[in-house]
Amino acid sequence: MKLILLGAPGAGKGTQAARISAALGIPAISTGDIIRSAIKTGSPLGLELKSYTDKGALVPDELVVALLQDRLKDADCENGYILDGFPRTIEQAKFLDRAVHIDRVVNIVVEDEVIVRRMGGRRFCPTCHATFHTVYSKPQVEGICDHCKAPLTIRDDDKPETVLHRLKVYHDQTEPLEAHYADIMLSVDGTRDVEVIASEILEGLKA
Ligand code: AMP
Repeated sequence: MKLILLGAPGAGKGTQAARISAALGIPAISTGDIIRSAIKTGSPLGLELKSYTDKGALVPDELVVALLQDRLKDADCENGYILDGFPRTIEQAKFLDRAVHIDRVVNIVVEDEVIVRRMGGRRFCPTCHATFHTVYSKPQVEGICDHCKAPLTIRDDDKPETVLHRLKVYHDQTEPLEAHYADIMLSVDGTRDVEVIASEILEGLKA
């Protein structure tokens, strides 16, 4: 099964992608994670990518499409995958239309005010990419990753002024994709308990 997770930054796409991935046995592919890994290498491409993510701007379509194309060649993508954070523009959706058959799109709906509150508490493990939250998903030890014990950080693009800009970019460029995928889209209310949302998504995907 090939799935897309749509939703504003901070709507819970990464959290739900991990649950769907575990339940269906297909990889969750986050273009945000791919981009952050490229930035960590410090390569010229990494530096270019960082100049966009730091501002809360989208990385140009041709760069992110090339990174995703590479990842989709990996053997674990053979039986399907969950795309988390891609597509984010109509151009990216058109690339997917040409390249693959998408079965379903899950749209996680959360109001802007809730997003702003949530993202302020978001913490990220720079080593294994696990995400935590100071209120909703606390690590066992404050400030430390449960999995690899690295100190947690705040992503530059989770800073308040950047969050507001990312929401504007989402409304301008990504929200129009809801119409593009209307026929195969399942919308869920992303403000409820993580497990409740996950079961609603998995039930919806069976239908
Ligand atoms: P995310 O972790 O999905 O919120 O992505 C973090 C940042 O990576 C975004 O704010 C963008 O700058 C960039 N990014 C991730 N996915 C895409 C995409 N599909 N198109 C353009 N930029 C992206």
